[in-house]
Amino acid sequence: MRVRILGCSGGIGAGLRTTSILIDDDILIDAGTGVGDLTLDELKRIHHVFLTHAHLDHTAGLPLFIDTAFSTFADRPIEIHALADTIAALEAHMFNGVMWPDFCVLPSREHPVMRFLPLEAGERVTVHGRHVHAIEVRHAVPAVGYCVQAEGKVLAFSGDTARNQTLWPVLNAYPNIDALLIEVSFPNAQAELARHSGHYCPQSFADDIRKLRHKPEIWLTAMKPGEEQTIFDEVRAALPRLPIHRLARGDEIRL
Ligand SMILES: [Zn+2]
Repeated sequence: MRVRILGCSGGIGAGLRTTSILIDDDILIDAGTGVGDLTLDELKRIHHVFLTHAHLDHTAGLPLFIDTAFSTFADRPIEIHALADTIAALEAHMFNGVMWPDFCVLPSREHPVMRFLPLEAGERVTVHGRHVHAIEVRHAVPAVGYCVQAEGKVLAFSGDTARNQTLWPVLNAYPNIDALLIEVSFPNAQAELARHSGHYCPQSFADDIRKLRHKPEIWLTAMKPGEEQTIFDEVRAALPRLPIHRLARGDEIRL
């Protein structure tokens, strides 16, 4: 399994892209601004998008991505997997005929370029041998993280979450977790803001990671611009024995 990090920042600015992760060349997890760096040919190869939640830093690239590859998706609609709440938000606020066309009825209702496939937490979707498992997390809006399992290797991605009781037991039930991409959005000085907005800070993440029985390589993601080094230093200070890295746009993880 090849994991390409197209974007992993909690904001924008020169060189920064928001969350978007390409699995092999056909599965996209979240469609933040990072998806805009793919070539047209790469965009056309994507068949499935799995969204963690509706927030713009995870979905902002979706309308223009589908528009750009419209002719390809007219032959074979792109499938968007997401919670029913996430789909409802995108239908009401994004693909509503005002902010952007409703691609579920274009070029025709019978043969649209985009199909929404509602997903429930706990559900697994298999795409050519890769098993994508939605896992409930706790955020400001309904949200899931994902485990992607292929050929015995497992990638876990938290999406956006605060402290929770739902992610860790599911990860513990896997025989192994090889890589964990985990959000830590705010530094400890903004712990209250992190809690109120449904995010981890280094201390709350350090409290939760102790629930994990596996010892995967850990990459921190979704850090707010300008706070990356502080967050990374605080996590390393709290968890000096764990293999912790800063995720960066352009990283490629092979499992
Ligand atoms: Zn969010």
